[in-house]
Amino acid sequence: MSDYDYDMFVIGAGSAGVRAARFSANYGARVAIAEDMFMGGTCVNVGCIPKKLFVYAAHFHEDFADSAAYGWTVEAKGFDWRTLVDNKDTEIKRLNGIYERLLGNAGVEIVNGRATLVDAHTVAVAGKHYSAKNILVATGGWPVVPDIPGKEHVIASTEAFYLDELPKRAIIVGGGYIAVEFAGIFNGIGVDTTLMYRGQLFMRGFDRDVRTHLADELTKKGIDLKFSTNIASVEKTASGLVATCEDGTTVEADLIMYATGRAPKVAGLGLEDLGVELADNGAIVVDDYFKSSVDSIYAIGDVIDRVQLTPVALAEAMAVANTLFRDAPTKADYEHIASAVFSQPPVGTVGISEEEARERFGDVAIFRSTFRTLKHTLTGRDAQTMMKMIVDKKTDRVLGVHMVGDDAGEILQGIAVALKAGATKAVFDSTIGIHPTSAEEFVTMREPVPEPMAEAAQ
Ligand code: NDP
Repeated sequence: MSDYDYDMFVIGAGSAGVRAARFSANYGARVAIAEDMFMGGTCVNVGCIPKKLFVYAAHFHEDFADSAAYGWTVEAKGFDWRTLVDNKDTEIKRLNGIYERLLGNAGVEIVNGRATLVDAHTVAVAGKHYSAKNILVATGGWPVVPDIPGKEHVIASTEAFYLDELPKRAIIVGGGYIAVEFAGIFNGIGVDTTLMYRGQLFMRGFDRDVRTHLADELTKKGIDLKFSTNIASVEKTASGLVATCEDGTTVEADLIMYATGRAPKVAGLGLEDLGVELADNGAIVVDDYFKSSVDSIYAIGDVIDRVQLTPVALAEAMAVANTLFRDAPTKADYEHIASAVFSQPPVGTVGISEEEARERFGDVAIFRSTFRTLKHTLTGRDAQTMMKMIVDKKTDRVLGVHMVGDDAGEILQGIAVALKAGATKAVFDSTIGIHPTSAEEFVTMREPVPEPMAEAAQ
């Protein structure tokens, strides 16, 4: 038995902190966890979960319209934002309770309040000191809004979940996950939506075909995509918010939401005073086992800014619990992390893009298919699904799989298992499809697309 109050004190009860606390306690450690905002963190309260509920809400308008071709007479009489927000809040309260119970059942002590580090083994919360052999910082991240004149008139995704009323016109700034997801949400529930992105094509880092295909599909749905556009200032006028762009043009809206990235939440923790090394953006620098530059202080999740995804945070949490309390030093495996962007249509992706594959592997074969799904043969909706597979010609291994289309997230999870197992294209080809599905296309792609050189010569 150590002289400390706890074997581990966790700061932050988000996905990462809760998982680490629970499993460490299950392995026999004495654990406390401090939280000053909401149980479950970003994902449960102002991220993945409410976002996905909003995406469902936004999709209904198309479903109502599409049902006509299948014989239904459905009249959507309107959309009530308040009902959605209230129901979402009720569900989140339920989840907050579940998280609290899970911690309690595991024997983790919950300390309500904002924690600061006093020394390498002591945490203070609301004036009380707690000592611990190890301290785990899992404080997550927070949206970053650039400093522009009129910044006080704009919101970030956090506030978007609690809007009193729905705007008529919205501008979403940014070209990453959150921007495209919220553009789809607002557009789907009837808001006149503009997405502004500073570069030439959004979704930087994703496969180029994914980026261009998604841009086309979002445009078809009525989202006004303004690329190479950035807001210089925002002014509040009697008729709404006026955004003046860097090129001098103006756009008026009732709501401007910035989705320009998230920064590690380290302010006020007192890490620098203890000599904990931080990266330029504030991220806690950790080794392969999530130990910071101070031996007793560990960090996981968005606060280390490696991959800002809940399932990755969970994997990092398991690694820490195993390392500290199971005598099984464990690293997190960042290979083949699948992810989905819940835009409408959604994107699913695992492995690397064509651009990265050509750079790293040189000789690659590209298989691509663009088609209208069976469902829309009756509805006539002009919606195209795109699927793409990148194969290393030398080894036949599948290096990347990408999809833009309905159920992309659901489909790619299974494909991720195949890639993790090192599947070759031959394995995909020998797999029997499930008919009729969109997913079967991934096992029936026979002909690679012509090489860019050959294509250019034609
Ligand atoms: P991202 O990093 O994905 O995207 C930020 C976007 O904002 C980029 O397009 C970037 O442009 C742009 N940007 C950055 N700074 C500025 C600026 N000063 N002015 C104008 N534009 C700017 O961040 P998000 O906020 O969308 O999401 C944060 C993270 O959360 C994601 O990276 C993702 O890991 C995670 N997330 C995951 C989800 C999921 O799994 N479905 C859903 C939501 C979030 P540029 O490309 O030019 O740098």
